[in-house]
Amino acid sequence: MRAWQLHDTTGPDAFSLDEVPTPEPGPGEVRVALRVVALNHLDLWVSRGLPAPDHLPHICGADGAGVVDAVGEGVTTVGLGDEVIVNPSLSCGTCRACLAGDIVYCRSYAILGEHRPGTLAEAIVIPARNVIRKPAGLDWELAGSFGLATGTAYRMLRRARLRAGEVLLVVGVGGGVSSAALALGRAMGARVFVTSRSPDKIAWATAHGAEAGFDSSGEFSKELKAVAGRPADVVVENVGPATWGQSVRSAGPGGRIVVCGSTSGPKVELTMPVLFFKQLEVIGSTMFTHAEFAEVVDLVASGRVHPPVDRVFAFADLPAALAHLDSGAQLGKVALRVS
Ligand SMILES: [Zn+2]
Repeated sequence: MRAWQLHDTTGPDAFSLDEVPTPEPGPGEVRVALRVVALNHLDLWVSRGLPAPDHLPHICGADGAGVVDAVGEGVTTVGLGDEVIVNPSLSCGTCRACLAGDIVYCRSYAILGEHRPGTLAEAIVIPARNVIRKPAGLDWELAGSFGLATGTAYRMLRRARLRAGEVLLVVGVGGGVSSAALALGRAMGARVFVTSRSPDKIAWATAHGAEAGFDSSGEFSKELKAVAGRPADVVVENVGPATWGQSVRSAGPGGRIVVCGSTSGPKVELTMPVLFFKQLEVIGSTMFTHAEFAEVVDLVASGRVHPPVDRVFAFADLPAALAHLDSGAQLGKVALRVS
C-alpha cells in the first residue's frame, strides 16, 4: 500500500509517499481501507518532533473513515465491508480508568498518529473498539474529517457544563476545534461569540451562527460585554498567552474557562484574586472517551452539528494540504481523499 511516511523531524518536508507492506490485523484488531483522511495541527507538530515519534519512518494522521477489509481473531463488533469512522483515542483497554470508560485518564492514553501509525495511508490497522459504524447518510468527506477536533470540542463544552442560553466565547476561531466548538455551541442552544485576528474568519463565523466576532488582538472582553450585554459563561481558549488575559477578563462571575491547547506558548499568568473573587473555573480538557465520540457521531449524523470541512485535497497532494493547514488560512478541516 502507499503511505505518507515521516522520515525525520525537520518539518513537513520530511514526508514522502512510499510503498510499504500492507499491515495485517492481530487479535482484536481490524484493518480499514481508508476513503478520506484529515489533517490536524498535531501532524505538523509531530513532523517537527513535538513530540518525536518512537520510530522513524512514521505514519502520522489521527482522522479517517473507510471500509473494513480485514478482521483479526476474536472481533465480533464489526465485519468485512462495514463502513466505519476511526476513533483516534487510544488506550490500554484493561486498566481501571479504561474499564470505567474514562479512557482519557489511562496511563497508556495516546492519540492515533502520534506514536502509533496513523491514517495518512491507504489502510490502517487499529483495535476494533476504535472504529464506529459510519451512519449511512453521512458523506465520506465529513465522516473522515470531523473526529478528533469535534470530539475534543464536545468534551470541552461538556466539562464546562455549557447550557442553553449561556454566552459562549470561542477564542481564535478558524481551526478544527474552535470551529467545531462554534457548531456544537449553537446546537446546544448557547449564544456564541468568537474572536479572530482575521476579519474574514469573523465574517465566516457570523455566517455560521456566531452572534458577533471581535479582534483577538484587541480588548475583546469589553467588546463582548458591550455587544452581548453580559460577560461569558464559558470561554473556549486554546491560544494561550497571546489571548489569556482577555479571555480571563471575558469570563463573568462563576465563569468557566476551558483549555485544550496553548498554541502561542506554554505559560500564562493568572491573577489569583481574580480567580477567587470571580469564582472562576479553569478547566483542562484533552481528547474524549468512546461514549463521547459515539455521541458526537450521532450529533453529526443527525445534521444538528455540521463541523466545517475547509478543503479536500487528493491523497498525493499532502505537501500542499500541510502547507494550507500551516498557513492558518483554513476554516474547518483540511482533508485528503484516499480512494
Ligand atoms: Zn487503560
